[in-house]
Amino acid sequence: APVVGVLAVQGDVREHLAALEGGGARAVTVRRPAEVEAVDGLVVPGGESTTIDKLVRAFDLQEPLRARIAAGLPVYGSCAGMILLADRLADGAAGQQTLGGMDILVRRNAFGRQVDSFEEDLHIREIGGEPVRAVFIRAPWVEEAGPAVEVLARVETGPAAGRIVAARQGSLLVTSFHPEVTGDHRLHRLFVDMVVRATRRGR
Ligand code: GLN
Repeated sequence: APVVGVLAVQGDVREHLAALEGGGARAVTVRRPAEVEAVDGLVVPGGESTTIDKLVRAFDLQEPLRARIAAGLPVYGSCAGMILLADRLADGAAGQQTLGGMDILVRRNAFGRQVDSFEEDLHIREIGGEPVRAVFIRAPWVEEAGPAVEVLARVETGPAAGRIVAARQGSLLVTSFHPEVTGDHRLHRLFVDMVVRATRRGR
């Protein structure tokens, strides 16, 4: 099984470790530069993107993470993780930095202060069978996406209908929502499949 790390400086790390194991990976935590080098793929979890950014820099992880992303490491960013993978932020906090890698403009807390969290069924072509139950918690959305970005899901109902909430570019995958809290591991399996393909290409 591929070794997939979960960036473990802040956020819902344990849920992703369990979902990755459910999706067919061997899941490990990543907190040190040497651990960044040892994984075949990485999840950047939900949490607070400003805190994750600060800790990534404090633990000297920003440069090794950026280098591996540039070299094609498969990375899945969920919610705050999506923010971390964005090349550009709308409503970023003062001084907030991202790892970048994906040609997207992401708006933090995009659904508004009144809408703290909500759930919706999403139809994602890459994931067969039942729709995916998407749990949004103070979620961002993708406001603009460059030509290399493949849109995987948009909000289907309500005032935010049409907003991009799942996307892929090369070996990078992002979702606004939290599949790790639902017990449905199909999205993690999709990511683990991306990791397996990238690992084969690298041999
Ligand atoms: N609002 C958070 C942020 O800006 C993201 C919320 C989440 O990851 N659930 O980092």
